[in-house]
This record gives sequence, structure tokens and C-alpha cells, in this order.
Amino acid sequence: MARLIEGMAEGMARLETETAFQVLARAAELSAAGRDVINLGIGQPDFPTPEHVVEAAVKALRDGAHGYTEANGTRRLREAVAADLLARRGVEVSPDRIVITPGGKPTMFLALLMLGGPGAEILHPDPGFPIYRSMIAFTGATPVPVPVRREDGFAPRAAPILERMTPRTRMVIVNSPGNPTGGVMAPEEVDALAAGLAARPDVALLSDEIYARMLYDGAVHRSLLAHAALENQLILLDGWSKTYAMTGWRLGFGVWPARLAEPATRLCVNSWSCVNAATQAAGVAALEGPQDAVDAMMAAFDARRRLVVAGLNALPGVSCPTPEGAFYAFADMSAAAPDGDAAALQRRILEEAHVATIAGASFGAAAPGCIRFSYANSTAAIEEALARIGRLLAG
Ligand code: PLP
Repeated sequence: MARLIEGMAEGMARLETETAFQVLARAAELSAAGRDVINLGIGQPDFPTPEHVVEAAVKALRDGAHGYTEANGTRRLREAVAADLLARRGVEVSPDRIVITPGGKPTMFLALLMLGGPGAEILHPDPGFPIYRSMIAFTGATPVPVPVRREDGFAPRAAPILERMTPRTRMVIVNSPGNPTGGVMAPEEVDALAAGLAARPDVALLSDEIYARMLYDGAVHRSLLAHAALENQLILLDGWSKTYAMTGWRLGFGVWPARLAEPATRLCVNSWSCVNAATQAAGVAALEGPQDAVDAMMAAFDARRRLVVAGLNALPGVSCPTPEGAFYAFADMSAAAPDGDAAALQRRILEEAHVATIAGASFGAAAPGCIRFSYANSTAAIEEALARIGRLLAG
């Protein structure tokens, strides 16, 4: 065994994990031990998948969708994605540039496997989704964190990205609306970034837009896909997990530069072969069917967002900006945490108040005093969680 581990691919030592899954496992242990745990940790909608989407998958299974499909996804689903991109983002994309994946995450996995490697520098947001840094490091490339600042309302900006680019930069990762902050990049910042990157055709841009439809207070999502000048550089990551409450189905897609769609598909063939056939049928139903369940879910998230932000700001030593997107509140807890160590406070909140949250340190080095609260839970659960945290902080 020891020899097997010593012989492991050297990148494995640099591969990290996603704390959200560790917190989920610990919350499950506490629940199994009889504790009443409130989960504001993992980022997944608490709503069921819309009924007609479930029915479409059941029907597909009954109708015999039991085999492999094309590795890049069924033509039917890729056409549905292309139609949706035209309707919602106003951009015409050939279905040949679309690669269907088991969840949104694999698009970043494929992009980094393909374009990472020693000698490359890859820029990623900090705080940001932890898998970016983990996978960049796994490939042997150098992760270059780009701070996403509280002073900017946690909205990513173009200048800090463009300033960090060097001749070795091979890829830039942006995420708006963002995890863990809920920050939304302003349209003029998106345009400034696009202009800067168009001048560097040797640099790829991975735009993670998985929360694109989760916006509040009239915030606007300007997709980088709308910038035709980036067509040969841009890899768009999106999927069904968040918008349609389908995290467990594992369904996502990437839009690739035409020349990268084939290598991306080859990586699919070398790994999962294709996405589950019935799930792909569900994906078509989600895009083409009624959207009222999405609207209802967003209205509920909006109400919870107000509740959680007001509740957090009312706690002593806690300050939380109002997020404009996704379903996360990212609160500065440094004044409430002993020694400003929000990671220790996050553990106490879980072990003593039985509320699962994620410490800022899980998202990079830039926000150690913060804690992420996923408000994908009922208002009653959020109210109870806030009351418990209030008692813990007062005690
Ligand atoms: N990108 C971001 C920013 C996310 O927060 C997540 C999930 O939390 C993903 C991608 C991955 O989503 P999926 O579950 O579809 O793989």
C-alpha cells in the first residue's frame, strides 16, 4: 500500500477538496447522532426538481433510453442548449461547440487538464470556488489568485485581473454571479475584461456562469459569450444544477472554441463516455418546458436573502453586504471571532449551535475572517439558525 501511495501521480499531493462536502459529512454524522442540524453549508437548492423534468426522465427510461449517447451529448440536447443561449444570451452558437458534461464542474476539469501544466500561470478569483485552485495546482500550473474585494461589494473587476497577466498567463477564470460571495460583475467591467483579453489571443478565458439566472434587485448578467471577439478563447461553463434544482442529476455543459470542442470530447471518451441518457432527456425538458418553477424558486431565494442579510447584520460583530446573485451571503465575522479566526468560529457554530456553514478560508487566502451562509433553506430554518448563532455569540 505504502508503495502504491508513493507511486501516485505527483499532482495528487496538490489536489485539494471542497470543504462543503466535508462539512456535509460532519453534519450528517451529527444528525445521525440525533442532533437537529440546520444546513446552510452546501450550495444546493432545497427545492425538488420541477415535476415535468422528473417525468421526462422517467418517460425516457420507459421508452428505452438505456444506452450510451454521443460523447459530447445528444444532438437534441445540444440543440436545445443552443436555442436557450440564443434566447437568453442573444448569441448564436453552433451545437458542435457544445459539450454536455456530468455537472458543471467537469467543464473546468476538462479545460484545466487540457490547458494547464507546468510553466503556465492561471488566474482565479479569491475568494472563489475552491476547485479552481485545486485543479490548477494538480496540473502543475501556478495558481494566481485575483482578489475579489469587499470594497467592491465582492463584484469581480477587470483591472485586478488584467494587471496580474504576464507572458506566462495561459488561462483566466472568472465567476459571476460568484460563489462564495454572490457578487455580480458589472456589465462595463465584463466589457473591459473582454477588451483586455481580446488583445491576448494566447490566453483562454473560462467563464463560470453557473449562477447566471440567479440575480436580484435588477442586477444584470452580461455573458462573456456575447463578445464575439473572444470566440476562439472563451470556454463557457454552465449547467442545470442550480437553476433547475438538479445538483444530484449531474448535468452541465461547456461552450468551447470550435478547435477545442474535439479535444474536450476526446477527454469525455477517455473518462465518463457520456452523460446518463435519461438525464439528458430531462435537460431538454428543463430548457424547453415551463419556467415557472425557476421563477418561484428565485422569489423564495430573494425573500431568504433579505432575511439572512438583515439577521446577520443584526448580530454583534457581524457585517454582511447584500449579495446580488447566487444564493450565498458572505459575512465578515472577524469582529465576532476570537483572534479573527472565522474557521474556529465556523467549527463552533457547527459543533455547538448545530448550524453548518463554510469558513472563508475554504475559498482562498483573501477572506479568512468571513463565513459563507448558503440560504438555500427554509425561512423557518434560517430564522432558527440565526437565533442559535446569536445565542452562541452572546454566550
Ligand atoms: N461552479 C461554481 C461557481 C459552483 O459554485 C459550483 C457548485 O457549487 C459548480 C461550478 C459546479 O456545479 P455542478 O454541481 O453542476 O458540478
